Amino acid sequence: MSQPSFNKEHFQAALMRQWQRFGLSSASEMTPRQWWLALSGALAERLNAQPAAALAENPRHVNYISMEFLIGRLTGNNLLNLGWYQEVSETLQAHGVSLSDLLEQEIDPALGNGGLGRLAACFLDSMATVGQSATGYGLNYQYGLFRQSFADGQQQEAPDDWRRDSYPWFRHNEALDVQVGIGGKVTRAGRWEPGFVITGQAWDLPVIGYRNGVAQPLRLWQASHAHPFNLTRFNDGDYLRAERQGIDAEKLTKVLYPNDNLTAGKKLRLMQQYFQCACSVADILRRHHLAGRGLHELADYEVIQLNDTHPAIAIPELMRVLMDEHQLEWDEAWAIACRTFAYTNHTLMPEALERWDAALIKGLLPRHMQIVNGINARFKALVEKTWPGDEQRWAKLAIVHDGQVQMANLCVVGSFAVNGVAALHSALVVKDLFPEYHQLWPNKFHNVTNGVTPRRWLGQCNPALAALLDKTLKKAWANDLDQLIALEKRADSATFRRAWREIKQANKVRLAAFVKARTGVEINPQAIFDVQIKRLHEYKRQHLNLLHILALYKEIRENPRADRLPRVFLFGAKAAPGYHLAKNIIFAINRVAETINNDPKVGDRLKVVFLPDYSVSAAEKLIPAADVSEQISTAGKEASGTGNMKLALNGALTVGTLDGANVEIAEKVGEENIFIFGHTVEEVKALKAGGYDPLKWRRQNKALDAALKELESGKYSGGDRHAFDLMLHSLGKQGGDPYLVMADFAAYAEAQKQVETLYRDPEAWTRAAILNTARCGMFSSDRAIRDYQTRIWQAKR
Ligand SMILES: *Cc1c(COP(=O)(O)O)cnc(C)c1O
Repeated sequence: MSQPSFNKEHFQAALMRQWQRFGLSSASEMTPRQWWLALSGALAERLNAQPAAALAENPRHVNYISMEFLIGRLTGNNLLNLGWYQEVSETLQAHGVSLSDLLEQEIDPALGNGGLGRLAACFLDSMATVGQSATGYGLNYQYGLFRQSFADGQQQEAPDDWRRDSYPWFRHNEALDVQVGIGGKVTRAGRWEPGFVITGQAWDLPVIGYRNGVAQPLRLWQASHAHPFNLTRFNDGDYLRAERQGIDAEKLTKVLYPNDNLTAGKKLRLMQQYFQCACSVADILRRHHLAGRGLHELADYEVIQLNDTHPAIAIPELMRVLMDEHQLEWDEAWAIACRTFAYTNHTLMPEALERWDAALIKGLLPRHMQIVNGINARFKALVEKTWPGDEQRWAKLAIVHDGQVQMANLCVVGSFAVNGVAALHSALVVKDLFPEYHQLWPNKFHNVTNGVTPRRWLGQCNPALAALLDKTLKKAWANDLDQLIALEKRADSATFRRAWREIKQANKVRLAAFVKARTGVEINPQAIFDVQIKRLHEYKRQHLNLLHILALYKEIRENPRADRLPRVFLFGAKAAPGYHLAKNIIFAINRVAETINNDPKVGDRLKVVFLPDYSVSAAEKLIPAADVSEQISTAGKEASGTGNMKLALNGALTVGTLDGANVEIAEKVGEENIFIFGHTVEEVKALKAGGYDPLKWRRQNKALDAALKELESGKYSGGDRHAFDLMLHSLGKQGGDPYLVMADFAAYAEAQKQVETLYRDPEAWTRAAILNTARCGMFSSDRAIRDYQTRIWQAKR
């Protein structure tokens, strides 16, 4: 496979056709958005005209099903992967248009909440790049994750209409429409008669491999009414029946649920899940039949990878199709299904583990509930044999128990492989979450540590560093990230360190301008840029960061002559709209920021900025400019993290707990090049087992106590002493502080002191930063995909 060649004449002609669609007589009349539309449309047209190479199925095709794909802007990324960036930039320059300005016109397709959705996007990029044939399956939401702004420091949410109907990269593949039944009843003969039918339309986005001529689809299903066009069914009352039940097909793919690590248990969400799975399973089987293959060979040619339990209903759906539409016996169908599915676990936290009301499933999907009960009954026989009469154990292992369907259990029982997403997390999956399952099937459990695509997260977001790497390594690194290790010896070169520092500095200047434009706050590019960007969640502990900021502020006030290095703390985070405590933390950070940033006694020494509307494109600006990466979750709570990898890859030094992939980052970069602090998983468990008392920790630490007192005093909230009650009560009450903020405060403050000490020695700091980048090769998602291939997808069976 080779890089597709750029043909300037063809591209010009395609651009011209795009202009004409706007009915303008000359290119000079186009608005910037029209320019972006024309550019993207022309590229998509070129791609369709010279169809990219399809990959040979090697030997199993991967079907990656995920409720979320946080893909970020596509036009710039596609140009980079195609290798056409330079040529296109020059072509546009001839029209007096700047390519990089145009790329800013694209509205992020924010079809995901955070890490889970971004991982799915990185994996598609890597599968296309390493030559794993794959289809991504998701939903085409009309509204992505809400837009965030602040009013008096409080988060405000607005709908994110990303204009999917005019998104130039989409190709609606009308031949692939799927009809999906919902509701109705199962007859006595065992036939499911759905109450109504919804049409699933396939909207494809191209996933382009890195300069290898490959493009494969991310297929996003969009729901529409089957009926206004089908008068027979309309007259049958099918459409009206749906209306009466409050089902509006178009509502189905209207909006992404804005929860991260939390399950809401809503009917519409279950419908989304089923709709997605039914469309995807039908599509997979259609391809399989078209290739002339028999059902019994399905698992030899297809894997269905479940990204968390959100698409778990695909398991009974495949069973249903095999039995009801293809007349297979239960045992035959089961043998096929449980060799086809593989499941990725993303969390151990109880509030994020999906449990559905059996009655809700039965009402919406009566046939599926029968099948789930069938799987449950057969599995019960196995458990009964292993642990006879052990009711308590069964309650934990059951798929259906107490009127609830435990989706993670369905996934473990129905899959041939289960994996966690970092070494520590995978060990905890076996030890704490699924120990009995591990006893039953020890070979089912794997680890695949997450990764990030170096194309977007270095090549695209940090072009200056990418150019330095090109020049220094003289080898392709973007699809062979282990090449970075050759930088190790450059860390000793003063010339190289200077070049490195200049790039970081320029990135910081650029970010400062962006921050000024977005927030009006001026930040000093000479200061340490300390960055915490991720969903707002108690377990991620943005409030630990805040308490430390308050302690620093107090120090500066009390000792204005102290020799302190200037620091800028940057936050980016959205809170789920119903997560009031998380929103209260945002409010507290914003109010403290307001006071500090306007305190003349502080000046440049301390600034706090909460950038509104964190997104992939915001991350692309923040990450290259970060000096310090905050990865401070309570040990045992963050499954992997991928933000930690992006930042370390771009030469930020991590302040982090021994959690998720931080553990592996520490092993790789070396303990002298990372700031590890805080209680370990074992210590967290011991602390809790001993009856953890947060107030004891508060009493022991003056700075902590003072910071909390200030928040309680109303000083940051115009005298309102209750403004931060939600946050303070969660931390302060007896038996509170479930995420051990108090217990880790002192160690965190100490780690931050060490940050400052090292930063005072720019040569030593730069050396450590270079070593972080040099040793991050394993955090490429290309490596993760190869691990999936050898351990799971293509493993000998
Ligand atoms: C990488 C990324 C995340 C995940 O960040 P974590 O720190 O791993 O939680 C979330 N949101 C966006 C926009 C990202 O790019």
